[in-house]
Amino acid sequence: MEKKILVTGGAGFIGSHTVQRLLKEGWNVTILDEFNTFYDPAIKRANVETFEGGARVVEGDIRDRDLVDRLFEESKFDAVIHLAARAGVRPSIDEPELYISTNINGTFNLLEASRKTGVPKFLFASSSSVYGVNKKVPFAETDPILSTISPYAATKMAGEQLCSNYHHLYGIKIMSLRFFTVYGPRQRPDLAISKFVRLIENGQPIDQYGNGNTGRDYTFIKDIVSGIFGSLHYEDTGFEIFNLGGSESIKLHELISVVEEAVGKKAQINVLPEQPGDVPLTSADVSKAKRLLGYEPTTPIREGVPKFVEWYRQWATDGTR
Ligand code: NAD
Repeated sequence: MEKKILVTGGAGFIGSHTVQRLLKEGWNVTILDEFNTFYDPAIKRANVETFEGGARVVEGDIRDRDLVDRLFEESKFDAVIHLAARAGVRPSIDEPELYISTNINGTFNLLEASRKTGVPKFLFASSSSVYGVNKKVPFAETDPILSTISPYAATKMAGEQLCSNYHHLYGIKIMSLRFFTVYGPRQRPDLAISKFVRLIENGQPIDQYGNGNTGRDYTFIKDIVSGIFGSLHYEDTGFEIFNLGGSESIKLHELISVVEEAVGKKAQINVLPEQPGDVPLTSADVSKAKRLLGYEPTTPIREGVPKFVEWYRQWATDGTR
């Protein structure tokens, strides 16, 4: 019998890559996605096209408790990968309520429905932003996470705590995955690498917030998907938090040079003040994921950015996702 899995946010960037691999591995996949306008929903519909009808697509909101309950009742999922969220630090400062209702209440609805219908395995998409302004480098799962600086980060921290509760109280196996800035084909158009490539390619200026010394640990999508699958198959313990990063931080000004080289054009740079909510650095200690999941990031940024550019040009030419 095929195993049934629900992927929330399955039409999005990380979700669509995850669904493709699940389909290849023979899972019976349902996605729940509201195709919202955080970025052009046509992009999400094009992502879904790549499933070639292989996944059941339910268009709806994880905040709609009746819908979520009905879906779980009728499907009896063997696992849930919960990726649907309002993502992004800066927009969460403008619309904190939307982030809180989606990321906290939505996560609660899914955990409740999982409890009521006996779902044994649940993966939660958390974020490196929970570390806030962490002085200790690299960031490890055992570091305190009491210094978040944006509503987005606070919602992910709350989501992790709900996950911990639901494991402790009801025995659901739950893995919380702290993704460190993910990039690659189909990357969200609001994120730095995608924006920089698009603008530099078109001869338009890019915005650089701060002096260029902020650092980010970028993770190539293929590596993230391998971490998601490692966690899906991991059964030894009931609740774990895993950093999934690329395990190399790069400064913003260096990243811009890498993009310039990959695109083959110089950037025109607007230097703007640092943005509130942005942390100065992210840096993942991935030794726990290596030890327990066999996680091994294989694509360094200098290889990943040219791959993104290649994908971007193909997509801009003929719409191939
Ligand atoms: P994405 O925006 O491409 O995908 C999220 C999907 O969720 C979208 O298709 C959206 O329509 C859907 N969605 C949003 N609200 C919904 C709701 N109320 N009901 C149903 N569907 C809803 O984002 P992504 O980059 O693929 O991120 C996936 C997850 O990973 C998110 O939880 C995000 O917070 C987390 N994450 C991403 C990154 C990154 O760098 N991309 C880093 C850390 C954490």
